[in-house]
Amino acid sequence: MNQESLFYFKSIDMKLTIAIQKSGRLNKSSLELMSFCGFNLIEGNGRLKTRAENFPVEVLFLRDDDIPGYIRDGVADCGIVGENVLAEKGIENLQVEEKLGFGTCRLSLAIPRETNYAGLTYFQGKRIATSYPEILSSFLKSNNIKAEIHGIGGSVEIAPGIGLSDAICDLVSTGSTLLSNGLKEVETILKSQAVLVANQNLNGEKRDILDRLIFRVRANRQGKKNKYILLNAPNGKIAAITKIIPGIKAPTILPLATEGWSSLHSVVNADDFWDITMKLKKEGAEGILVIPIENMIV
Ligand code: ATP
Ligand code: ZN
Repeated sequence: MNQESLFYFKSIDMKLTIAIQKSGRLNKSSLELMSFCGFNLIEGNGRLKTRAENFPVEVLFLRDDDIPGYIRDGVADCGIVGENVLAEKGIENLQVEEKLGFGTCRLSLAIPRETNYAGLTYFQGKRIATSYPEILSSFLKSNNIKAEIHGIGGSVEIAPGIGLSDAICDLVSTGSTLLSNGLKEVETILKSQAVLVANQNLNGEKRDILDRLIFRVRANRQGKKNKYILLNAPNGKIAAITKIIPGIKAPTILPLATEGWSSLHSVVNADDFWDITMKLKKEGAEGILVIPIENMIV
């Protein structure tokens, strides 16, 4: 086999290895993202590893805490993990490629509900239980607070109730876990969401595959942030309606079979579409349709 064909065989085998959480809060959304990117993952429940049949990626299922280390060591090329885990592990050579908008939460300090709270000095000399000792200790240090940090692996929220600590530092999303454990959130240390993180030193081929993946992720996220809108309007209202739905460049205007009327198509921000449709209605728009966008490339 000559050099050229050897290279060819190596290239078609080249895959990007992406690590995602095996089970837990990020698992479902990470798999959904793979599917939105158009990857057909080969089924294999409970497996450590799978691959896509139509894209050069291999997926590793791991505990989220292990993902940054595996990427650093080159076992995986990239992965999906919470910013909270990255901040706690403080691993170099990793690069956040894209924020993913799911797994949103915050790392907060919480104390028993009935306790008065007058500010950070409350924590002076207190015992704080957490699974995030690194982030907590640098936060306390930068605020000149000396406290006793109890690093525990899980179920941090029960620590004050069983007398292990005076306060906790834990991840919060809705706050319902704190509430049901008689705690109240008093300070936010860090805001977090899931991110796509990659090894900085990927070879050219892997980097190309990653860029193709990122292109799809961006198109998908952009699509989700927007909606496609169609409506009918009398021609005299086109100028006013164009101001409300300017779209990416400008709305598409097509004549209707009914004389004096047009159909306008545009793109609107998904968070604003209710207010926008009300405005459009006031301007005389009829038959307004709002449709989800699967992918959007601007
Ligand atoms: P693993 O078994 O993989 O170690 P875990 O128990 O550490 O799982 P999960 O509770 O599944 O982790 O949380 C995974 C990630 O989900 C967190 O690191 C965080 O980024 C995100 N997350 C979002 N909301 C919350 C929340 N309310 N509590 C905990 N994590 C949250
Ligand atoms: Zn974990």
